[in-house]
Amino acid sequence: MHELGIAQEIIAIVTERAGIARVTRVVLEVGKHALILPDSIQFCFGLCAEGTSAEGAKLEILEVPGRALCRACGAEVALEEPFGTCVCGSTDLQWLTGDEIKIKEMEVI
Ligand SMILES: [Zn+2]
Repeated sequence: MHELGIAQEIIAIVTERAGIARVTRVVLEVGKHALILPDSIQFCFGLCAEGTSAEGAKLEILEVPGRALCRACGAEVALEEPFGTCVCGSTDLQWLTGDEIKIKEMEVI
């Protein structure tokens, strides 16, 4: 399961960064095209956090819209779908963001 692996990775990173502190909150930035389900990530996060210093931590997910660069005219295009067409009519788009998953913030006590 895609989300389980991601959740395991997030827990590994935040618990390592926290050291002996307890993780209370994690803010995750997820691209709209990362193709993960927020509910599923929440569930897996809770499961993976059990028994670690991130147990009971709150996970917040921020969705980031996709952006692409048009290779034909150089314009930046905001995309809601993992494909699209530039205003110039070209579909030759290079992804800039949209499929990334990163830890934006974390809080420890
Ligand atoms: Zn264009």
